[in-house]
Amino acid sequence: MLSAVVDLAASVQYVKGVGPQRAEALAGLGVRTAEDLLFHVPMRYEDRRQFTHIADLRAGTKTVVAGVIEVAGLRRARRMAVFELRLADESGRLKAVWFNQPYLREVMARGRRVVLYGSVERDRHGGGRLMMASPEYELIEEDDAAVHMGRIVPIYEKLGPLTGKGLRRVILPLAAGLAEGPDPLSAPVRERLRLLPRHLALRRLHDPGGDADLGDLNAARSPAHRSLILEELFLFQLGLALRRQQRRADRQGIAFRVTDAAREAVKRILPFPLTAAQKRVLREIADDMQDARPMNRLLQGDVGAGKTVVALLAMVIAVENGYQAALMAPTEVLAEQHALTLGRLLARCRYTVALVSAGTRAQRAEARDRLRAGHVDIAVGTHALIQEQVGFRRLGLAVVDEQHRFGVLQREDLLRKGYQADLLVMTATPIPRTLALTAYGDLDVSLLDERPPGRTPVRTEVRAAAARRAVQDLVRREVAAGHQAYVVYPLVEESEKLEDVAAARQMAERWQEALPGVRVALLHGRMKSGEKEAVMASFAAGEAQVLVATTVIEVGVDVPNATLMVIENAERFGLASLHQLRGRVGRGRASSSCVLVTHGRLSEEARARLEVMVRTDDGFVIAEEDLRLRGPGDFFGTRQWGLPAFRVADLMRDRELLETARAEAFRFLEEAGPAEAQRLLASGAWARRFALSAIG
Ligand code: ADP
Ligand code: MG
Repeated sequence: MLSAVVDLAASVQYVKGVGPQRAEALAGLGVRTAEDLLFHVPMRYEDRRQFTHIADLRAGTKTVVAGVIEVAGLRRARRMAVFELRLADESGRLKAVWFNQPYLREVMARGRRVVLYGSVERDRHGGGRLMMASPEYELIEEDDAAVHMGRIVPIYEKLGPLTGKGLRRVILPLAAGLAEGPDPLSAPVRERLRLLPRHLALRRLHDPGGDADLGDLNAARSPAHRSLILEELFLFQLGLALRRQQRRADRQGIAFRVTDAAREAVKRILPFPLTAAQKRVLREIADDMQDARPMNRLLQGDVGAGKTVVALLAMVIAVENGYQAALMAPTEVLAEQHALTLGRLLARCRYTVALVSAGTRAQRAEARDRLRAGHVDIAVGTHALIQEQVGFRRLGLAVVDEQHRFGVLQREDLLRKGYQADLLVMTATPIPRTLALTAYGDLDVSLLDERPPGRTPVRTEVRAAAARRAVQDLVRREVAAGHQAYVVYPLVEESEKLEDVAAARQMAERWQEALPGVRVALLHGRMKSGEKEAVMASFAAGEAQVLVATTVIEVGVDVPNATLMVIENAERFGLASLHQLRGRVGRGRASSSCVLVTHGRLSEEARARLEVMVRTDDGFVIAEEDLRLRGPGDFFGTRQWGLPAFRVADLMRDRELLETARAEAFRFLEEAGPAEAQRLLASGAWARRFALSAIG
């Protein structure tokens, strides 16, 4: 066959076997060009070079067999339609059955050649003979058997009007016709990443050839897969790298100076020596702040790692330079607590701290006036600080705490306000590195990977609700030892309805009855902010010993004397929340524990989550497990990460390649410069996919 040279940008309509009608349907699925079609990646590969003889089949294996249909028929069994056939090859016969697919009778007629793929099992009704139940099947026509047989064949997911087999008929000739064309990536990059020439990678993706390794293909680790994945991730990371650079270049930032006065102030404030990790991270931040380019930094650290004090010291640098600083938290409770903590730590300094988003309307208005006039050095609030019309006189540093509640968009919002402020984003949610590299690919990352000294790991156990007495005893014992406890119920703050609040109130009453002589307090999301503040303050001061709360305490709350966390209906919480909640204890020197109370029967997934919690308290491990259990699309439930849909790459599977691609992309930008990167990103079919992240 003469291979026609394929124009990758040509409309898919002109690909042989497609035509205008199918092209229209394909366009609806985002497949517009020949190249789009070539990026319909096989979901797996089947080795049809040599089929296993039926006589050699073994139970418990997944296999491909081929043969001729000898007998076929439909029968009814217990209200089910069972289609059954007998397949024969030169070595023997095999039974196969399908349930409730009566139309198979029309398709798989006697005498036809068919390929079956499925698990081989023992036939319970057939005296120990072997069979396949509901295998995948493919009928082979003699005239195009060469496409479907005698090679390693790609198995495709159906694409609109094109069946898996139909796709093979269309794509294989298309791939065979690919000729060497311009590669978007330059030769040195291709060489360093060890990429196949693009046309070859695309061809082998669909037609791996006789000497390919089936295992590699099915693991997406064949040279073809590797090349295409790296190309995709490289371009994506290049977009992020470019955006990061542009943002830095666009905005003239502030070059702070770390003066002796600032150093003195820091020394005066510190209630404890910093850990080595805190020192390192603070140095990274200070270096960044001294640079004239605006800082865009993510401070990542597990719960309890001590991020707040690092942020405070960064804010001190800003204030010592005559600027204002802002600290934003995701909830009012946390903002209030931050204001208390800062107020306490800064008691011996002349800085003024103001809580901007709480209090009566008049109080808030007053706080804002002072902020605008420059009478406030450090403003603390919720994200209302950036969303509403809050003006700063000279904002120098904005710290965003617990980023995962904010989302990327608000981050952008803040930057668009026109301030030259440096930005420090703190997250206690340990984002797996893979996601950090993508979702935060345009930020610099500092990692706080050490906990303050003297911490003992939190002991975690799972208890059924029936063990209520034992749990109450635990609470009683902690309180008797002079410690405090949290009891949390799973009401999500935003959706707290009145009946939920009533339930929470009832729970608090029940705990109070069970623990006479102990002071039980209640905190829920529907309370007025002043009330919340009062409850938190009394718990922090040790006046209340047990705090019954909804998840408003999920993030950031810091009461080191609390040593027991009881989480009711633990099966309803996601791993991220469980980890955050548990992070409220284990903050002091006394040993702490966490009890996960479950109600009713647990789903497989809930059980897996709780097991992870018992096994480890390493937030990164937990986040990785979460990612594994839920898949990246669903991670922390969101699209807020703004990740594009990748065509070949898979973030979970391809993490290592992601890192390789990232390093290479940053190197490329450094060496080739932004104009060249821009040109590369603006050409090619994928440009529109990454448009958002690329040009920003
Ligand atoms: P997170 O990183 O979760 O925000 P925090 O900043 O709230 O953690 O710190 C957790 C607790 O550890 C706080 O009580 C804080 O005062 C304490 N802490 C922080 N750094 C140190 C340190 N270097 N030595 C001793 N305690 C510390
Ligand atoms: Mg914190």
